Amino acid sequence: MLISKINPELEDMKVSFEHEKLVVFESELMQTTCTLIIGGRHMLLVDPNWLPSEVEKIAQRVATLQGDRSLYLYFTHSDYDHIIAYERFRDQAQVIVSQALLSNPEWHQQLEEIRQFYDQYYLSPPWPVSYPQKADLIISEPTEQHEIAGDIYHFYQAPGHNRDGLIAFHEATGTLITGDYLCGVEFPFIYYSVLAYQKTLALLGRLLNDLSVRTLVAGHGAVTQDRQEMQARWQASQWYLDALMAYGRGEAAFPETELWEKYPDFQHIQKKYHQANLALAKLELEGG
Ligand SMILES: [Zn+2]
Repeated sequence: MLISKINPELEDMKVSFEHEKLVVFESELMQTTCTLIIGGRHMLLVDPNWLPSEVEKIAQRVATLQGDRSLYLYFTHSDYDHIIAYERFRDQAQVIVSQALLSNPEWHQQLEEIRQFYDQYYLSPPWPVSYPQKADLIISEPTEQHEIAGDIYHFYQAPGHNRDGLIAFHEATGTLITGDYLCGVEFPFIYYSVLAYQKTLALLGRLLNDLSVRTLVAGHGAVTQDRQEMQARWQASQWYLDALMAYGRGEAAFPETELWEKYPDFQHIQKKYHQANLALAKLELEGG
């Protein structure tokens, strides 16, 4: 069932998925998603992002739908585009993050990236630029299950893309929130570790098989409810990892032509990420 748009001013923030219990916003920048789960007694807001005007639209929607629900703010990982609006919501929300995010030794670098972003586009920072230094629920075990206002959430540590990723599954809606894994719009971007990424991808393969995933929300690009599409994204990621590891170990050249056939969009920027992946694979796997 689609819920009606209550406030016409909200029309200009792209909503890529909308259901009475789940709304996914999509920024115009890098198709970055922001998920809002609407439970009976709580709301979970995930990675509100990018432009100040977009974040304000998200905040308006939260205010419209909140009623007496308690608000939780959850970050999938500490990349600056995902934590950019922390300060906007911190006073009204309980924060959920991984222990690894709190202890990220390079946290100040993420703040520097946020400052550079605002500066580059002549945007005045709408709030102080800050990093989550504490949280109300800290996930430190490989897997944890928590009841939040009557709803069950599963959390899974997911290092690889960066060092502090966390995947969440909301049982009641069957929503799997993967952070920057299984994005339809991009191959794996690996800033932390190829081998850790491979382990997380294997975990995701098990989760897709074992959980009743009805909706997959990745950090960038389209939401999908199609099981075949979920599997296809997983297989494409595994194809990339296999090729990257073979390259890193010096066993084969990377199949560039095939890569750009599979991921034809945004090549100018994505080529840079691919080059960085190749360099990391050499560093991590050569001689190993
Ligand atoms: Zn991202």
